[in-house]
Amino acid sequence: MGLADLHIHTIYSYDGTATVPGVLQRAKEVGLDVIAITDHDEIKGSLKAFDLAPRFGIEVIPGIEVTTAEGDLLALFVTEKIKPGRSLLETILKVGEVGGVCIAPHPMARGLGMKSLSQSAIIQALLHPEASRILLGIETYNASALDREISVQAQALADEFPGIARVGNSDAHILHSIGLGATEFLGCTAADLLEALWIGATDVRQGAQWGSARILGSWAINYVLSTPARVAVID
Ligand SMILES: [Zn+2]
Repeated sequence: MGLADLHIHTIYSYDGTATVPGVLQRAKEVGLDVIAITDHDEIKGSLKAFDLAPRFGIEVIPGIEVTTAEGDLLALFVTEKIKPGRSLLETILKVGEVGGVCIAPHPMARGLGMKSLSQSAIIQALLHPEASRILLGIETYNASALDREISVQAQALADEFPGIARVGNSDAHILHSIGLGATEFLGCTAADLLEALWIGATDVRQGAQWGSARILGSWAINYVLSTPARVAVID
């Protein structure tokens, strides 16, 4: 079985503190086979990771976390920036047009930096004949969500749609939370994972448990310490 963490941020996100090589190294160390770097409305870090991945012995799916009018949306297997601010449906169809697939991250969650899709927005997309072929999964476990009740609600939503893939991700903003949420699938490559997403044959795995407060504290320290570096890289 393969393990993937499909929601990781780097310094190319306004709120990420990890460098791209740092993420790749950490992901390999914790035993992940496939990762996606999904910075907020930015694809540079993800493309850089895709290029560097072979040196680290890990597979990278290019991706982005798009800010839609209704909330955040993960777009995977895309190599171009997806314009933020459009409606959820329009954004999903655009992702499909460029050959990508989508996952609804931390559904219904509210909190630091999380602009989440509502249950009704996700249901509307899943009932749309075209969008439902692109929106393949729901993040039923997000290791960075502070409210654990959210996971229960996300699982209940997934229960309503047999065939939807259940995805576990870290939503890591610091190196040490990479892999704390992961998705298990048959095989070990990005192609295997895509197939598993298509047929909803994924399982959610939770990594070693850090307290949320500890993750938040570590993020704050890293965020402050890495600010000069981040400005230098992004500019
Ligand atoms: Zn995120």
